[in-house]
Amino acid sequence: MHAEVPTLTTSEYDVIVVGGGPAGSTAARRAALMGLRVMLIDKSEFPRYKPCAGAIRNAVTSLLDFDVTGVLHRKISGFTMFSPSGQRIDCVPEDRSMPGYTVMRDEFDHLLLKKAREAGAEVREGCKVTRVLDDATGVTVYTQDDMALRADYLVGADGINGVVARSLGLYDGWHGDSAGVAIEVEARVGEKTVRDICGDPTGYDADVFFLYFGDVPHGYTWCFPKRDVLSLGAWCRQDRAKGLRTAYNGWYQRFCEEYGIEPQVLSESAARFPVKVADKIVQGRTVLVGDAAGLVDAFTGEGIPHAVQSGIIAAEAVAEAVETSDPRRLTTYADRCKRVIMKELAVAESMAKLFYRSSKNMETLSNFFYEDEYARFLIAAAVGGLMSQKEVKRKMTLRMLRTRPRAAVSLYL
Ligand SMILES: Cc1cc2nc3c(=O)[nH]c(=O)nc-3n(C[C@H](O)[C@H](O)[C@H](O)COP(=O)(O)OP(=O)(O)OC[C@H]3O[C@@H](n4cnc5c(N)ncnc54)[C@H](O)[C@@H]3O)c2cc1C
Repeated sequence: MHAEVPTLTTSEYDVIVVGGGPAGSTAARRAALMGLRVMLIDKSEFPRYKPCAGAIRNAVTSLLDFDVTGVLHRKISGFTMFSPSGQRIDCVPEDRSMPGYTVMRDEFDHLLLKKAREAGAEVREGCKVTRVLDDATGVTVYTQDDMALRADYLVGADGINGVVARSLGLYDGWHGDSAGVAIEVEARVGEKTVRDICGDPTGYDADVFFLYFGDVPHGYTWCFPKRDVLSLGAWCRQDRAKGLRTAYNGWYQRFCEEYGIEPQVLSESAARFPVKVADKIVQGRTVLVGDAAGLVDAFTGEGIPHAVQSGIIAAEAVAEAVETSDPRRLTTYADRCKRVIMKELAVAESMAKLFYRSSKNMETLSNFFYEDEYARFLIAAAVGGLMSQKEVKRKMTLRMLRTRPRAAVSLYL
């Protein structure tokens, strides 16, 4: 069937971006702003639903070059974690240096897509890409409605199940421990109830999110506050996710009983996200960004900051390749991603391995956070992106070795 679709020989675009999530929209906008001819294609019509807790750290708003105030739901001053034994630990830095926000992904992603269009990118919604080709002279993108579009470069921003990576043999299906699986319910409870449940414990005009450890073996259950909705979810590394649904149902019931709520369920969905960086993120004239490249924090499950940042770096690398007519310039994308994003993700992966190794480790580390204010600050800084993961890991290790050497050693036994 594909053979009947003509392969065009002249490039209509400098770059085609497949996928209009945060990674793709950012790449498309930045490339268009640099004067490139950009086509962005997404299979969905926007605004489209995306299962997500919707927490964005401050860094995301600083990376974006436009105002996102209109789509922010709640200001976040920190988080509260619960250890496997149920101990409550409030991680809210006193100096309020960790503000983040929550968003609804349909609104947030729609804004980013509009900003890509506004910058000059041609945007095609409701158009599924079925396969791509990358050859010596350019790339061809085939769509479900039998179009064949030609460009000099390609950005694969089509998420964990991306067709770009699969078509080009860069995709192994994210098997085993390389992905997380999540369940999310959007539960409407009303604005006041959201504040009653999630309001900052010190009375500051902000909210916190909740992370519960121990219900699932490698991951957590969560409550994230939106304007009048709670995102109630659970994620677990997929190779350990056998009891995820049962664990989630039990936790959901307990949560609703504890707070005396009977939420109106707006949506319920399951989705995967990568927790390992893809082996190869550049090939020929193609780069992979965001989830398609596996750029998600394995400790927190956070991917939006890395999606946006990789989109920016990809646009710069493509612009350089266009300017010099040299596809080899795309390797600067991989180099910069390694430096700016992947080093951090590697630390997050090692922290995840240690923390989620056993219920005992989760309890030991939770206890450490409970008893030590500085450790609480450090974990809040890691989750809020206030300090690099590398720095947090170093300081945390030193602190624990100095103040609780036996507990520190027990983490490895
Ligand atoms: C339940 C859950 C909760 C999460 N919570 C958070 C959180 O609170 N904070 C955080 O930072 N991260 C969170 N993440 C991770 C975050 O959602 C992702 O890292 C982020 O969406 C990655 O952005 P992206 O642009 O790479 O991909 P996506 O947002 O997945 O966008 C990919 C786009 O590609 C399009 N597409 C796919 N295939 C095709 C095709 N064949 N043709 C055309 N278009 C196609 C899709 O329609 C989609 O719009 C969560 C993930 C899950 C699953």
